[in-house]
Amino acid sequence: MTDFLTKTNCDRCGAKLTSRIMSRFNEDCICMTCEEEERKHPDYAKAVEAELAALRAGDYNYPGIGWSGKDGRLP
Ligand SMILES: [Zn+2]
Repeated sequence: MTDFLTKTNCDRCGAKLTSRIMSRFNEDCICMTCEEEERKHPDYAKAVEAELAALRAGDYNYPGIGWSGKDGRLP
């Protein structure tokens, strides 16, 4: 996450970053298009919930539940 602000390209699709956001699924620095994809992902709520649960438990370095691809499902 140290290079989050200096990245020039999306970790997921490689597009040039105009604005950046941290993935809800893992530690990727992604573009707005990929962020849209994440929001539509069937496991998005699960990813957000897992992250919140980790934060509540005091785990601020939670890496996310993992990105399995836009059509991939989590185990
Ligand atoms: Zn992207």
